[in-house]
Amino acid sequence: MNQLTPPLPDTYRHQGQRRALARELRQRGIHDERVLAAMAAVPRHLFFDPAFENHAYQEKAFPIGEGQTISQPYTVAYQSQLLKIQPSHRILEIGTGSGYQCAVLLQLTDDVYSMEYNPVLFARSRQHLAALGATRAELHCGDGSLGWPAAAPYDGILVTAGSPGLPPALLRQLRIGGRLVIPVGDASTQRMVRVTREGPDAFVREEFDTFRFVPLRGAGGWDNQ
Ligand code: SAH
Repeated sequence: MNQLTPPLPDTYRHQGQRRALARELRQRGIHDERVLAAMAAVPRHLFFDPAFENHAYQEKAFPIGEGQTISQPYTVAYQSQLLKIQPSHRILEIGTGSGYQCAVLLQLTDDVYSMEYNPVLFARSRQHLAALGATRAELHCGDGSLGWPAAAPYDGILVTAGSPGLPPALLRQLRIGGRLVIPVGDASTQRMVRVTREGPDAFVREEFDTFRFVPLRGAGGWDNQ
């Protein structure tokens, strides 16, 4: 997996805060050991403006500019766990944002694609990930609600923005046995949904807890409502 080489100090204090975060996540019900190890490994403070570094290991979402937020650690761990990622899996993330979730995915498999709609965040997340040495993900700027057909099929697709429904393009790009994890609902709250593709036209839908995400834009998201 990715060996991370932080450009800025990753001190014993930061590492201790991350171990405490992983313990807290375990208490809240995250039980996938690989996900917990990934959360303990990725220096979340390096995805923040240094002025706000103190907020990095608190259990909360935080502004990353352009009206968007980095998801709270519990949400990142929760979505990652639902995907059941194996080291051989190919994963597509929609909504790169800060790049933090992408760095967590790179701890779970080397085969990660991530798409971001906003060009400012796209450029910044690329810098953050490159500075950490997390260069293996293939990043694209564009409408992720249409997926990235060139690298399909995927074993897992993770949407980190709230969607009015299930984008058909994302369902089509799942491998048989693959899983789509996506928050579905209205603008204020969404249920976490996992759809497993069991056959060419067979999809099984499960619903989990309620969350609050920024809206998924684009043709398969709110721009089409
Ligand atoms: N995963 C991110 C948090 C994402 S916030 C992290 O770890 O920091 C949701 C992101 O989805 C925002 O950056 C927003 O610009 C992006 N987004 C919204 N609609 C999109 C679309 N159709 N395609 C790609 N990205 C989209």
